[in-house]
Amino acid sequence: MFSDRISRIQPSATLLMTSKAAELKRANKPVYNMSVGEPDFSTPENIQQAGIDAIQQGHTKYTPGEGTFELKEAICTKLKRDNNLDFNTNQIVVSSGAKHSLYNACQVLFQKNDEVIIFTPYWVSFPDFVTETGAKPIFVNTDSSKQNEPVFNDLENKINSNTKGIIINSPSNPTGGVWSDEAILQLLDIIKNRPDIWIFSDECYEQLTYNIPFKSIATFNPSLKNIITFQSCSKTYAMTGWRIGYLAGDMELVKAVSKLQGQGTSCPNSIAQYAAVEALSGKQSCVLKMKNIFHKRRDLILQELQDISNIECEKPNGAFYVFPNFKYYLHNKSINDKGIKTSSDLSLYILDQTGVVTVAGDSFGAPNNIRLSYATSDAIITDACRHIQTALLKLKN
Ligand code: PLP
Repeated sequence: MFSDRISRIQPSATLLMTSKAAELKRANKPVYNMSVGEPDFSTPENIQQAGIDAIQQGHTKYTPGEGTFELKEAICTKLKRDNNLDFNTNQIVVSSGAKHSLYNACQVLFQKNDEVIIFTPYWVSFPDFVTETGAKPIFVNTDSSKQNEPVFNDLENKINSNTKGIIINSPSNPTGGVWSDEAILQLLDIIKNRPDIWIFSDECYEQLTYNIPFKSIATFNPSLKNIITFQSCSKTYAMTGWRIGYLAGDMELVKAVSKLQGQGTSCPNSIAQYAAVEALSGKQSCVLKMKNIFHKRRDLILQELQDISNIECEKPNGAFYVFPNFKYYLHNKSINDKGIKTSSDLSLYILDQTGVVTVAGDSFGAPNNIRLSYATSDAIITDACRHIQTALLKLKN
């Protein structure tokens, strides 16, 4: 009944845990949600007010498909101010979140027989974006002890004449890893003679790096036309529900993406676009304020995780996730004679025992890991880690 296209993709992996957590809440059991993929802060007031003003001033109509001129201008100014990138308004498409920008760009560029490189562990949506187009995701390993930078010989072995794209996400969801300049330069060097390979740089978490500066990949070689930069208002300004993200890149690509988007959603939400102008152009103190809180929480969660025996957790330099390895507790442990073989089994066991909601690494292509988000209060972080420890101690050999 349904198209091949729709059967190629999976539902969002986090939904099962969200519904399990909702079940526990309905039963009045305590829930410690460590699965959230969004800041727990409210959208800053000046941005809220810009949305209210937009409604009251009648900015409630369709806008140009690729976004208002004012917002595209604000994005260009922001890209120069924060990332030292030079773009003009003809090189920008505003979408309903960076997820939509990424989806659109995959639809425009990839098709059957193409191969697209994705680094493991990956954000859950990347493989689905690629498979839906008919192209094949090709997974390349990363080094968890080096901020999940690529294993370069694996990368080199997997690039071939069918390679059409490489999707990079630094800082990363789910690992929080931030690639070094050397890693980015090495990757760009490997493909220096391949202008036919599109580099997607998903920079949704660009404002969330701790004690290290963030460098946008396009700054390493501004003359390259095949780098597409994706950014978002979601994580930076606590605006996930407003749905505003954008891409910046080659003008011809921008025209093709605009054409697709025009037939899909007509335009991004007009009110949210006005609020996004304020977010990008108004006072930026909220960004640093939220980042400093995330930084402290990262240190707190790493400290709490140290008390849990037999897990390994690297120190990620960005985003708001940690991605500990629970291998010790898989395969050889059981509770009530029920084998815990996968990280999904373990994540469900932890949820049932303690009410701590996590996301299993299986869905990120990392079967030994579990993602914990620290976009939540210090109290929840501390309680959740202690409950995880208690639940693990109950596991028998
Ligand atoms: N890219 C990554 C790596 C993400 O983690 C997310 C959201 O979780 C997105 C893109 C999408 O963000 P947006 O809200 O802008 O669509």
